[in-house]
Amino acid sequence: MPELPEVETVVRDLRPQLTGRRIRSLQLTRDPSIRSRLVRYPSAAQFVRRLPGRTITSVTRRGKYIVMSLQSLSRGPDTTGSNGAPEAERLIVHLGMTGHLRVWEPEEAPVRHTHFRALLDSGLELRYDDQRQFGRLLLGKQDELVAARAFPARLGPEPIHGDLTEGEFAKLIRSRRRPVKSALLDQSFLAGVGNIYADEACFRAGIRPSRWTHRLTVRERRALYAAIQDVLENSIAARGSSIISYVDGFGVRGTNQEKLLVYGRSGQPCLRCGTPLQGTRLAGRGTVYCRTCQR
Ligand SMILES: [Zn+2]
Repeated sequence: MPELPEVETVVRDLRPQLTGRRIRSLQLTRDPSIRSRLVRYPSAAQFVRRLPGRTITSVTRRGKYIVMSLQSLSRGPDTTGSNGAPEAERLIVHLGMTGHLRVWEPEEAPVRHTHFRALLDSGLELRYDDQRQFGRLLLGKQDELVAARAFPARLGPEPIHGDLTEGEFAKLIRSRRRPVKSALLDQSFLAGVGNIYADEACFRAGIRPSRWTHRLTVRERRALYAAIQDVLENSIAARGSSIISYVDGFGVRGTNQEKLLVYGRSGQPCLRCGTPLQGTRLAGRGTVYCRTCQR
């Protein structure tokens, strides 16, 4: 499943192709079950009606979500929320497990499982394909999406780009009494970390994923804080991990999967000490760690 580094890579690839572009027309799959599964909010019919004519003003990432802010349809200024932030409508895409958001030439034949096509004023098409259909498309203002439970009310801080200080991380992790792995997977704790980078971060920090968060020593907490940032930033530099079907905004596989030290390597020798890596289940997810290197 695409996690923070994969989504960040796609966002960086799409940003120059989408920013300032107007959506001329829209095609959504006609299959009613796929429509209702993919378009989480509003209704598929509303989604199709509300999007054409809108201009994408920015392309950003929040956690594992691709967030495209839209210019309001009226010529007046955007309404301002109580906290002073503009409440622009957004087109939000979550890639789920096998989703791809890419810009194509209109004459290119759509790949299989293309469910959404938006013709842009650049003459190119923004397309979304998703074989397993665990992805979702959302359209609306932040409050609206949260009220409809289409977007999480609470997303934790971004672990990279200097948005999370060591002090804040320490406070966060001390307040959670649960296994480290389950805390890392919890999007209301940290936004964007999933199964791959949770295991990789624990290995780099030398901490067993089953350790309790409030029992970590100051030194271990510091090591985990640094490890989370390292694994995420290194993966962004390698354009993400292509595990199942992930490709970047140009359809090219990332290379970080070749650099993973524990994820997907259960039973294989630890690259640091040679001990066969241990596979287990934690927080409902497959988890791999080294019994020797992680304490
Ligand atoms: Zn080891």
